[in-house]
Amino acid sequence: MIDYHIHSTFSIDGRSHPRDYVCSAADHSLEEFGFSEHVDLDPTWEGYNYLDYSRYHEALEKLREEFALTIKCGIELSYQKHLEPSIRAYLSSISCDYVIGSVHDVNGISMDDTFLEHATPCSYFEAVKDMTTSGMIDIVGHLEYFKRWGGDYSSSDYKAAIVPVLQTIVEQNLFLEVNTSGLRHPVCDTYPSLCVMEWYRALGGTLITLGSDAHEASQVAFQFEPVLFQLKEIGFNQVVIFDGRTWCYHPL
Ligand SMILES: [Zn+2]
Ligand SMILES: [Zn+2]
Repeated sequence: MIDYHIHSTFSIDGRSHPRDYVCSAADHSLEEFGFSEHVDLDPTWEGYNYLDYSRYHEALEKLREEFALTIKCGIELSYQKHLEPSIRAYLSSISCDYVIGSVHDVNGISMDDTFLEHATPCSYFEAVKDMTTSGMIDIVGHLEYFKRWGGDYSSSDYKAAIVPVLQTIVEQNLFLEVNTSGLRHPVCDTYPSLCVMEWYRALGGTLITLGSDAHEASQVAFQFEPVLFQLKEIGFNQVVIFDGRTWCYHPL
């Protein structure tokens, strides 16, 4: 099992220290895992410029010396189209193992419990599609994240908006994350739903990663076992592992 979506205290909302995650990953017998600290480049956001990247990099180097686990250094980038010049400049200034791209905001509307009163699922999928053609990210993070508060959203009702996003992910050789944090949110479902993973597989998609989106050490590899079982049923027999933004398959 490999968990590539973890936020430590290097993220504004991470609640456990990096070392605590490494201990938790060892307890879960993870072969490998990666941190994915938030990078928010919108000056109006609370988390703007929060990550001290060199301290983050140094902290992981020290942990690698202390523990036998493979520890990867990733980021979760909040994508907004108008920020592309700043994102490009930021990415050229760092070296990391992978970049998760996530849409946390659509046209200034954040994904709180009132999101669907002000925006539509289609506007979110359009924003994700822009991200998938930007050439800046490796992994599409928590697709369908807006559904976290529950309500009457159903993936099947938006298949016509979702399939073009999946097609672009396949065409661009990007990676689709299965994020298990929704299983501890009111929606009680993965991001994206497993039916979306079936559509992705049917389109020829094979490149997937798993992420718990842990914000505290106890959430590492959250619900991975049942979700992995279901992914295998759909036909996914491998995940990918990253090193310096290159990748290879790893059997499930
Ligand atoms: Zn996120
Ligand atoms: Zn996250």
